[in-house]
Amino acid sequence: MPASADFLNSRQPGLATVAIHAGSEPDPVTGAVIPPLSLSTTFKQQEVGVGKFEYSRSNNPTREGFEICLAAMERGKHGFAFASGSAATATLLNTLPPNSHMLSINDVYGGTYRYFTKVATSMNIAVDFLELADADEIIAHIKPGSTKLIWIESPTNPTLKLVDIQKICEVAHKNSLLVVVDNTFMSPIFQNPLELGADIVVHSVTKYINGHSDVVMGAIVTRDDQIAEKIRFYQNAIGAVPSPFDSYQAHRGLKTLKLRMNQHQKNALAVASALESSPYVDRVIYPGLKSHPQYELAKSQMHGFGGMISFYIKGDLTNAKSFFKNVKYFALAESLGGVESLAEIPSLMTHGSVSAADREKLGILDTLIRLSVGIEDTEDLVDDVLNALEKSQ
Ligand SMILES: *Cc1c(COP(=O)(O)O)cnc(C)c1O
Repeated sequence: MPASADFLNSRQPGLATVAIHAGSEPDPVTGAVIPPLSLSTTFKQQEVGVGKFEYSRSNNPTREGFEICLAAMERGKHGFAFASGSAATATLLNTLPPNSHMLSINDVYGGTYRYFTKVATSMNIAVDFLELADADEIIAHIKPGSTKLIWIESPTNPTLKLVDIQKICEVAHKNSLLVVVDNTFMSPIFQNPLELGADIVVHSVTKYINGHSDVVMGAIVTRDDQIAEKIRFYQNAIGAVPSPFDSYQAHRGLKTLKLRMNQHQKNALAVASALESSPYVDRVIYPGLKSHPQYELAKSQMHGFGGMISFYIKGDLTNAKSFFKNVKYFALAESLGGVESLAEIPSLMTHGSVSAADREKLGILDTLIRLSVGIEDTEDLVDDVLNALEKSQ
């Protein structure tokens, strides 16, 4: 049986060690070092109601291995896997009573925004979108009795703004609100929101955790037993669970997450610095650059700066389009967090459904380019970007 997350927590080994060992005990029957992929939908019971597993929607050995591992990596206690990050979000929102109210960071992930504003409304859940910059702003928007939680993404997408998670948690808890952090952009390697006081962490496993752009999956992690019981019930009742094969792939992804994140970050720092010194770039946004307005917060709140960069290219849409034509290694594509480098234009791609007025307010202009820096050789990526910039003008 997979080791429990607790036994690892007591000694607090590093995250690379946790990633290799938590939830991944050698198979007791065959000795196989890698637990076998368990495809069975149902499990033989020793007696009626006696047995660790019953039915794979409720629980599955391969999925459980991943859940234990991710929970331990987030320094949490309970992990839950879902068919996508969006399914994790939807399931979590379903745990709220009808007529609930919540507060959310304003440039939340597009699919989350869509769920909040077009789907959760059918449960009469209302959301206010805020900067989440200070306590006064939050307190002014709390509706006593109905406000249940605060939804944070940090850094945000694509403008890489940071939210002071610890500060928001203090305000939230004083007012009996839960704090949820979508930790997709940093992964458990570079940020652990539960350690900063958050109650729940959400992930699109599709991104860095699986890391190879070949699985769509999501997850929720918490330390709180009561929250966990609720989520476990809804995970089974709604049934938006991942397949054992996807769980297997994602668990395998976790094992190299630290290695990959370190290389993503090394490459991103080099590319961001090169962009910053280019005459063809107006402004670079990367939390690891001293020029980032929240560089100090980034250093204190995160253990790294990640692999996502946004920058404003000089000129207009024509120059941006020319940049995409001229990069050799950065594929023009949505999504992020895979081993391969990607580039996209948020105003026309990932954030095309955000209204023009809101895009303007958030700074999502036609010259804003978002890079998901992969784990290729650093010099190749730097050369590629500099060359494409020169040709774009
Ligand atoms: C991709 C993403 C999601 C949604 O996850 P899916 O796996 O695509 O459903 C949620 N939050 C963030 C920050 C994301 O990047």
